[in-house]
Amino acid sequence: MIEFQQVNKKYDDGFQALTDINLTIKKGELTAFIGPSGCGKSTTMKHINRLISPTSGRIFIDGKDISEYHPVELRRNIGYVIQNVGLFPHMTIAKNIAIVPQMKNWDKAKIDARVTELLKLVNLDPDTYRDRYPSELSGGQQQRVGVARALAADPDIILMDEPFSALDPITREQLQEELVRLQEDVHKTIVFVTHDMDEAIKIADTIVLMKDGQIVQSGSPEAILRRP
Ligand code: ADP
Ligand code: ADP
Repeated sequence: MIEFQQVNKKYDDGFQALTDINLTIKKGELTAFIGPSGCGKSTTMKHINRLISPTSGRIFIDGKDISEYHPVELRRNIGYVIQNVGLFPHMTIAKNIAIVPQMKNWDKAKIDARVTELLKLVNLDPDTYRDRYPSELSGGQQQRVGVARALAADPDIILMDEPFSALDPITREQLQEELVRLQEDVHKTIVFVTHDMDEAIKIADTIVLMKDGQIVQSGSPEAILRRP
């Protein structure tokens, strides 16, 4: 469980990006943050892996204040998928996926098996893709690798910041459906940022609506849709 208590964020230039964020993100659920560009979705999410620290307020993961974790320790347990994937261009797909397992000193056989398993999970044929380079893959395929990489060392939490928004509509829809299936399989706590209500409704267990740095409403997709 992830909890925000009275979190405020003022950036160095004085801009108040978040005001009084109180929020509980349930374990094993997919929570989608939605709202117009600039409303503070990414800022909220980046607090969870301490890419950003609050100006005031506290954030807890499983009851422990995240300021008590070393950021590296914290991030090893939190997968992060972003819009432009950020695969390393000089590394093969297999090497890209294996970054965190390698940091954790897994042996080679275990890493190889994990890479194969993950490529299958995101619907990429392991024999075809493991030794290719990112530039040889389409945007949608690279995004699949991004998801595989985020899952590699079996983190408890996965953060996804508009991971599909740069993709064509068909690929995007396909990946949305796969994410729902994946979520049912691996049952991770997933925090997903989007500005697309259809996407949020399709994939989320809980939707958090934001506007101007504040939470306007949160609840199940059904509850959000029922709102007059
Ligand atoms: P969203 O993800 O909803 O599009 P962000 O969380 O990225 O919004 O940004 C929220 C607001 O904070 C925006 O107005 C943005 O310009 C501002 N902002 C984001 N990062 C910084 C920063 N490093 N310094 C100052 N302002 C920032
Ligand atoms: P996103 O909305 O996906 O977070 P942006 O394109 O808004 O990405 O921001 C890209 C980077 O620029 C982020 O690191 C963000 O913190 C920073 N940034 C965004 N808005 C501002 C701003 N007004 N002043 C300074 N940095 C900003």
